[in-house]
Amino acid sequence: MRIVLIGPPGAGKGTQAAILSEELGIPHISTGDLFREHVTRRTPLGQEAKRYLDTGELVPDHVTGGMVRHRLQQSDTRRGFLLDGFPRTLTQARELAAMLDSTGAGLDAVVEFTAPEDIVMKRLLNRGRPDDTEDVIRHRQRVYERQTAPLLDHYADILLTVQAVGPIDEIAGRALRGLSGESVRNPRRAS
Ligand code: AMP
Repeated sequence: MRIVLIGPPGAGKGTQAAILSEELGIPHISTGDLFREHVTRRTPLGQEAKRYLDTGELVPDHVTGGMVRHRLQQSDTRRGFLLDGFPRTLTQARELAAMLDSTGAGLDAVVEFTAPEDIVMKRLLNRGRPDDTEDVIRHRQRVYERQTAPLLDHYADILLTVQAVGPIDEIAGRALRGLSGESVRNPRRAS
């Protein structure tokens, strides 16, 4: 399966992605993790990306797109993948569509994790990553609403919305049950 995960910072995408990737036997590709690896290794890409990660801004689309294209060319993605944190803009969504067009295999589902803002704020402040200060978190939430939330309409036909509140395994169960349908259809949009 080829799956995209979307959700505001703190909705638990990364945690869920690790479980779903294991259950479904497909690689978990997190653009945030890829960027953090580049920053740690001090690659030129990492040096360029760092200031965006530090402030909660999005890394420019051309940098992000190139990194994802490279990752999707690796052979472990042939049977599918779980993209966590990409695409985050409409431009990235179009770029992903173009990458997949060239392989003849489209996305099967987009899973949206939702959670109230006070819950996500608590989760992030407890997590303690360097970009998890209150100001940067609030900024990342605004960036999500402005730039990423429009993707939910863009992917309405294959969107599966999962409430990300409650025990981790229960949330994963909701997502897996939703994904086990032959094709994912958003009931709000079904005709
Ligand atoms: P995450 O680990 O998904 O919370 O991402 C951490 C940071 O990495 C974000 O705040 C952005 O600065 C950057 N980032 C991750 N994914 C993307 C993306 N698809 N486009 C642009 N920037 C990204």
